Amino acid sequence: MRTVGNRHTAEDTEDLAIWVRGLTDCPPVTQTTFAMCSHPSHGDEPATWFYVEADAAAGVARLRCLAGGHIIDLLDSAEHWTYPGVWSCHSCSQSIAEVVYGIHDEAGTARWLVVAVRCVECGDVDGVTDLLIGEMPLDELLARL
Ligand SMILES: [Zn+2]
Ligand SMILES: [Zn+2]
Repeated sequence: MRTVGNRHTAEDTEDLAIWVRGLTDCPPVTQTTFAMCSHPSHGDEPATWFYVEADAAAGVARLRCLAGGHIIDLLDSAEHWTYPGVWSCHSCSQSIAEVVYGIHDEAGTARWLVVAVRCVECGDVDGVTDLLIGEMPLDELLARL
């Protein structure tokens, strides 16, 4: 995507969300939310470390939680899955990431989504894919992420 090469590091997911909100050359990000795996096996502590598979050309992404291997498909990614490889950090090459979604909405209607990751080892940030949503109520989108 367009922000690759715009290197930065983030201390935590809050910092990553700030980076996402500062992205330029794309629809303005109006909402951010963190990826969590809420599978019952995690109890009261949802998992936030993931392996990420994403294809920027196809606009698909899938997360697999480190703790339990549970799969989270981004929206309808499974329906046009392209079998991309697992993301790995450009700086340190490891593959475990925290994930923030940036959303562009207009008066509560979500139109665009970007998936950003933060390397849990060195803090490098990266945008892995983005997609046009068309029109979806923001609340419905947030419930599906
Ligand atoms: Zn899980
Ligand atoms: Zn790294």
